[in-house]
Amino acid sequence: MPIKIAGESLNACSGCEISILDMGARLLTLLEFATIVHFPLLMDNKHDHGKNNSQIIKLPKADVGLISGSIKNKEHLELARAMRDSCDLIIAFGTCATHGGIPSLANFYRNDELLGHCFNTVGTDKADSVPSDAVLPELTDACYALDEHIRVDVFLPGCPPHPDHIFRVLQSIENKESFCLPEKSVCDNCPASREGRMQVKTLKRSLELPQWKVNDDTKQGFKCFLEQGFLCMGPVTKDGCGGNKGLPRCIMAQVPCRGCYGPVKKEGNQRLAMLNALASNDIDISSLLETISMLRFSGGHGLLRPLPVIKESD
Ligand code: SF4
Ligand code: SF4
Ligand code: SF4
Repeated sequence: MPIKIAGESLNACSGCEISILDMGARLLTLLEFATIVHFPLLMDNKHDHGKNNSQIIKLPKADVGLISGSIKNKEHLELARAMRDSCDLIIAFGTCATHGGIPSLANFYRNDELLGHCFNTVGTDKADSVPSDAVLPELTDACYALDEHIRVDVFLPGCPPHPDHIFRVLQSIENKESFCLPEKSVCDNCPASREGRMQVKTLKRSLELPQWKVNDDTKQGFKCFLEQGFLCMGPVTKDGCGGNKGLPRCIMAQVPCRGCYGPVKKEGNQRLAMLNALASNDIDISSLLETISMLRFSGGHGLLRPLPVIKESD
């Protein structure tokens, strides 16, 4: 019997689903052992709210449920719970689902600030034009990773996850094998040459390009971006973005790692780990313009919060 796959997107951008399509010809192999029973972004079906729109989300039963996106409103929450109920095994699909992802940058702001920023724009909308709850699902108090609300069986980070890993995880389920990415960092698979010491005391801004000269065959020859003084999140980011080839994608495009696979260990904190790495290499961390962006992919699990409101009388 082919395994039945269902998929849903919560607070997501559809990039994870595009990565499924990027499996290319392997999609045909996948369809030899799997059937897709529900996947609104890949096939023409939507979830059913039951008779008379009774608000009970009905989904077909499936062996595996892929959920992309984080949870930022009550509708995401209901959908995540409905998927948990209808699927035997849940995969947190992509870094939004595993760690909150880019949408969890919202956790640096209060909901009234977010709504004001989106809807109370000067010159276009009226200042009181925030849509009612009837139009806009009620926001949750924070942007949550999936496992903060439902039980998750497999974590597949990446923004988006590499197609090689999407195929491997589904194949391993079919073969009843376990699947997890190794707890290595992006640096572990990076061909940059390292001297083991920083060449600067303060980080450079990304207004200049790192030195880059690479041997086309070995892909080696360039100096570590971090040692050159550019913020590269490789030391604190989970390896895997290179798929079966292994070479980190941004690095090979001459761009420092931004951290999109989340922390090396699932429960890690990329901002603390990176500040620690910089400080222990004698970088003056007080010279950094900001550090919030070190959590730009992993601000769920309570790691990113709004600053407290200070009243004038305080
Ligand atoms: S993990 Fe990245 S690609 Fe996937 S939904 Fe989130 S932002 Fe989009
Ligand atoms: S810090 Fe960046 S450039 Fe240096 S080894 Fe790690 S991933 Fe490569
Ligand atoms: S190099 Fe870093 S930011 Fe780029 S794809 Fe890999 S993990 Fe993501």
